[in-house]
Amino acid sequence: VFTDQLRTILGPGGYLEGDDISARYSADITGYSVGQPALVMRPRTAAEVSQLLKLCHGAGQQVVPQGGMTGLSRGGIPKDGELVLSLERMTDIEEIDTRNGTMTVQAGAILQTVQEHAEDNGFIFPLDLGARGSCTIGGNIATNAGGNRVLRYGMMRELTLGLEVVLADGTVMTGLNRVVKNNAGYDLKHLFIGSEGTLGIVTRAVLKLFPIPKSQCVAFCASDSFDSVIELLHFAKAKLGASLSAFEVMWQSYYDRVQAARPNLKLPLTGDYPYYVLIETSGGDEELDSRLLEGALEIALEDQLVADAVFTKSKAQVDAFWEVRDISMEVAATLQPYHGYDVSIPLSGMQSFVAALEGAVAGDWPDATLVMIGHLGDGNLHLCINLGAPPAQPPSQTIDEVVYTITGRHIGSISAEHGIGLLKRDYLRFSRTEAERSLMGTLKEVMDPQGILNPGRVVRG
Ligand code: FAD
Ligand code: ZN
Repeated sequence: VFTDQLRTILGPGGYLEGDDISARYSADITGYSVGQPALVMRPRTAAEVSQLLKLCHGAGQQVVPQGGMTGLSRGGIPKDGELVLSLERMTDIEEIDTRNGTMTVQAGAILQTVQEHAEDNGFIFPLDLGARGSCTIGGNIATNAGGNRVLRYGMMRELTLGLEVVLADGTVMTGLNRVVKNNAGYDLKHLFIGSEGTLGIVTRAVLKLFPIPKSQCVAFCASDSFDSVIELLHFAKAKLGASLSAFEVMWQSYYDRVQAARPNLKLPLTGDYPYYVLIETSGGDEELDSRLLEGALEIALEDQLVADAVFTKSKAQVDAFWEVRDISMEVAATLQPYHGYDVSIPLSGMQSFVAALEGAVAGDWPDATLVMIGHLGDGNLHLCINLGAPPAQPPSQTIDEVVYTITGRHIGSISAEHGIGLLKRDYLRFSRTEAERSLMGTLKEVMDPQGILNPGRVVRG
């Protein structure tokens, strides 16, 4: 009877059940799943979401929101007994306000569609990540997604001005703010950004747009020491100012495997160096911007912040340089089976973090391979570890415990950008204090007293 009521709200085409529910609703992109939903709800409007949640709230029915299912923390995969609420039919781009530089979209809009629509109207929406073709704005908001251009434009949190959210009891909370400055009370949108579907369903958002940059220049550099990489970052920030749009670091362990993933890819630099750095600028004047970066590079070479470097402003070569960084998933795949991590470490402690981690891993798993890259401008490291042959002496800790203990000791975060979901929930204590976790639990209880929204994700349910 209860599911009949849900079906009635949704109407024909508004839901899937039984064999019509394909694996994409139960598994993440790695194919991992833990259960099978009995019903996939595909509402079209916030009003429908509201009616559905009102019923689920009354019945204590647990619900898992889904966007493009590209999340990497197992936040959107349903357990048995949970119903899926997919935003896949709420994809409208409702309005673009060119004077204000904002766009209002439904939460199921695909990131790439939003980017293209912005460009058609003379703007960019700067959030960008490898999953752009399938991830949704709602999923980007729910995970507070980051990516390659955070250094310049911020994470999804900085790019979101307003939200419409349906609360657990079905209340539609509309807060489609369009202004940068709004101190009229608590900024409630921040409760939902990064909450991974545990506090409300995002149904609409007002996004910030930016002018289309007229120039894009890239320097691909090699450095001899981590100290020079950090110095180079500060130098680049000071010298390039607001035009600096990416500072991506690849450890040699990564660079050396690029051709294992893509044999035909031509590497920008030959020669062995411990660190490679991709520096990008974008700005309003190609002539000026390219001279600025080239000039900076000359000084960096003279001062030995970089050992070797190549520079380009040609679109084809810019893309070719970026490709080396962008194929990180393929490089990781050469390490199958691997353990992946997404941590943040204060730059002052990063070298000590890496040394401690390398030491601990080599000590417990002598055969292990550790590959690292990072959005270093944000203190964000992506680690990929293949443990190799099982060690003679079984280690006292799992690899997750090793990584997260060392992360905690360096006052870092166990999730820089991918979120907690089911995957990292039990490790939250390594980067959040007891008081913080307790307040998260209190908020969850107040906002979702029946525990129906993504229970057990992020915080214990
Ligand atoms: P889903 O995977 O569907 O959901 C993610 C979480 O949000 C789940 O907990 C889900 O329940 C919840 N959720 C989804 N929609 C809503 C909604 N409307 N309301 C409330 N809750 C909702 N992330 C980065 O930060 N930076 C990167 O550079 C990056 N690169 C990636 C590259 C690849 C190739 C892939 C596959 C992923 C990458 N990611 C990256 C992970 C990133 O979190 C997701 O790609 C994206 O932000 C999730 O969007 P989605 O629509 O697929 O969400
Ligand atoms: Zn990343």
